[in-house]
Amino acid sequence: MKTETLTTYIALSMIGTGCAGPVSGPEDPTPETAPVLYIVSMMHAEESIAFHQNEATYERHASALEEQRALFAKHGARLDFGPDWTFIEGVKRWDPTQLTDHLAAGQGLHTHAHETQWDLANVNERLASVGVEGNSIANGGFLEEGPDGSNWMGYVSSLQDSAGTPLFSTAIGFKNPQTQIPDTSATCFRPSVDGDWDVHDPNGRMLYLGSNSSGVAGEGALDFETLRSWMDDRLANLDPDAMNTLYWHDSLHMYGQEQDAAARRARWEQEFDEYLDPLADAGLIQWATFQEMAAVCAD
Ligand SMILES: [Zn+2]
Repeated sequence: MKTETLTTYIALSMIGTGCAGPVSGPEDPTPETAPVLYIVSMMHAEESIAFHQNEATYERHASALEEQRALFAKHGARLDFGPDWTFIEGVKRWDPTQLTDHLAAGQGLHTHAHETQWDLANVNERLASVGVEGNSIANGGFLEEGPDGSNWMGYVSSLQDSAGTPLFSTAIGFKNPQTQIPDTSATCFRPSVDGDWDVHDPNGRMLYLGSNSSGVAGEGALDFETLRSWMDDRLANLDPDAMNTLYWHDSLHMYGQEQDAAARRARWEQEFDEYLDPLADAGLIQWATFQEMAAVCAD
């Protein structure tokens, strides 16, 4: 399904689910309030670094995470962190309150598991072992299918705890690991758990939050050179009948060396001051963790 078709379909379907932004009546095609664009900086720690094997490596990256948290807090912005299993093991060994502190600061966490030895359920359990119980946001398992042969979303939806309660209610950031092509949807919708997952199902139990990535292999990573034009374009084309969402993929390893990290934080400061803060002050963008976005969408 092409993006435009999907967006229209979702917008039409969502009117009846309460999962939409401002909706105007049929005789009034102009919404009274301009729709808001919900955004977040998604940041991953990838297992290629093996954070749990070297305390100094872990500490360097954990400090970078704390600095990022402070920087974002200063601007009322939101960071949603997906620590891989090795980072969580580092937390367990050397820094047991790191992730609970992150949540207590009002920032977000999601369960992040690529196509590796540990799946989403395992990483979710590891999060619980460091005080983050019941994280409901899933990112990973992209090649998996549900037990009945259903799609990726069927797989995510089927994961349960030992009491039979579903682990996840929301999924984010789909990228085909074979082609590296990211999903291009740009709204919150209820994915189908059979057939094509990116087709809205008004009765679906899961939510998906689109990133507004372009459908180009490898795209989606944070690129300061194109951030403003990308968001400007999106802001000029918001869907008035849906909840509009946008996020990129930042990586903790970009902050692993102090000099690079300081330069990157300076660039963030510039983006906040010149571009992001004015948009937020004008009410055109709304920072929200994935959890906060899901709550708005489900409302
Ligand atoms: Zn990742």
